[in-house]
Amino acid sequence: MHEWALAESVIKTAVEHSKAQKLKKLKETGVLFGELQAIDKEIFVFALEELRAQFPAAKACKFKVSTEPAAFRCKACSHEFPLKGLKKTKDESEFIHFVPEMAHTFLKCPKCKSPDFEIARGRGVSISYIKGEK
Ligand SMILES: [Zn+2]
Repeated sequence: MHEWALAESVIKTAVEHSKAQKLKKLKETGVLFGELQAIDKEIFVFALEELRAQFPAAKACKFKVSTEPAAFRCKACSHEFPLKGLKKTKDESEFIHFVPEMAHTFLKCPKCKSPDFEIARGRGVSISYIKGEK
């Protein structure tokens, strides 16, 4: 059910943004969906479409959900590197998607080989833009 709660908060946030910009109707909302997000994207998109009817300003809004690729930042040398292209087995990559914290077990900074890095991108769900009518 996490997908539904998240979808609802995305719609609420989009509606708040539209009010702040004095928009009467939302036409389109861009949503960035982090690659490491441990929720089901299809259910999330479905939930957005189902729930928007409850918000007058978002009734006709299209939600364009795009995936934000995951990236890590090395704490030792500040080098930023994407999850894609790093050498890992399929099992490892599925595990990383499920438990991002476990990435440290499998990955090292490609520049300085430090295992000490943080997740720079691809974790959360955020709104990238809104479009609407005044
Ligand atoms: Zn490094």
